[in-house]
Amino acid sequence: MYAKRIKSLPPYLFAEIDERKREVEKKGVDIIDLGIGDPDLPTPPHIVEAACNAAKDPSNHRYPSYEGMLSFREAVAAWYKQTKHVTVDPEDEVLTLIGSKEGIAHSPFAFLDPGDIALVPDPAYPVYNNATVLADATPYPVPLTEEHEFKPDLESIDGEVAKKAKILFLSYPNNPTAATVERSFFKEVVDFAHDHDIIVLHDNPYSELTFDGYEAPSFMAVKGAKEVGVEFGSLSKTYNMTGWRIGFAVGNAEILNGLRLVKTNVDSGTFQAVQIAGIAALTGSQDCVKRNVAIYRERRDILVDGLSSAGMEVKKPKATFYLWVKVPSGFSSIRFSMSLLERAGIVVTPGVGFGKYGEGFVRFALCVSAERLKEACERIKGLNV
Ligand SMILES: *Cc1c(COP(=O)(O)O)cnc(C)c1O
Repeated sequence: MYAKRIKSLPPYLFAEIDERKREVEKKGVDIIDLGIGDPDLPTPPHIVEAACNAAKDPSNHRYPSYEGMLSFREAVAAWYKQTKHVTVDPEDEVLTLIGSKEGIAHSPFAFLDPGDIALVPDPAYPVYNNATVLADATPYPVPLTEEHEFKPDLESIDGEVAKKAKILFLSYPNNPTAATVERSFFKEVVDFAHDHDIIVLHDNPYSELTFDGYEAPSFMAVKGAKEVGVEFGSLSKTYNMTGWRIGFAVGNAEILNGLRLVKTNVDSGTFQAVQIAGIAALTGSQDCVKRNVAIYRERRDILVDGLSSAGMEVKKPKATFYLWVKVPSGFSSIRFSMSLLERAGIVVTPGVGFGKYGEGFVRFALCVSAERLKEACERIKGLNV
């Protein structure tokens, strides 16, 4: 019944974990879910309020525009100027998205013909690989290894492959590894993209969730970036808005236009009340972001300290709400995850679910309270791993 492209998608490991989780839950075990990267905190009230008012206005009940309200795109441009010192033209260098995942998933349809190559980091957010597969194009894995600080070694990419490749996906601060980069890395990326005529799609949903004075550079802040790429942004993680479905892409106007052409034929834009909520988020007080960051920092410290004293190897990340933790020797990432679930009622994500180079690690998400994290640490200490 299903098309070949559906059959060629890798098996969805997360569905299987969910299944196991439900089985354990049925036995009455109190589960601590550190698997999903979905903020547990509510959307700040001033944002909800803006949406409620906008929802009552009949002028927002009709089809929105494909590219998004100019006022939302202006808010994105102003936010970029303020937070990243980057100038973009709201008219043609900003595109509203139904969550950044939507834009990422539609990009291969704009730029890849069947058989074309996309360079996809491994491990990574699965959408880069799977959207490429859905577009009948070919993902070429670029390993992110600990030796290379979870950055791609662009020099080592096969010359023929680099020549043929049309897009390169990247994402820093990184999910799942929590790795961060400095501007110098993005300069190398721009040179590589120029040399090989490759479109860079930089996915940046964790740009604001940074700690200890680290500031995540925007890809767009690097000279020449706007000639070769775009950056995806999201309100999901910054403002606890995963359920609202709003994000954006900024950068090269021609690339954005390609994405817009696909979207014009697939969706009909983002509900205006949600865009108005987005304006409230981007232009309102950013104290809510500071509070979020403080909460994740406290949680990070609790879990890093707890796991370390349980004898596990873990580095303190400078950004994101994830910890990328080495599995104890003798375990595969799946076996260790299953063992945490069955022996301690703790859900984590096996690294191999993000690609074969994710083997040897598991990802802990910090989307539960400090109290629950402390409880998780106690349980893990009790396992004597
Ligand atoms: C959460 C996440 C997204 C998706 O964000 P939405 O705007 O909610 O679609 C994209 N990329 C990465 C790496 C993420 O972790």
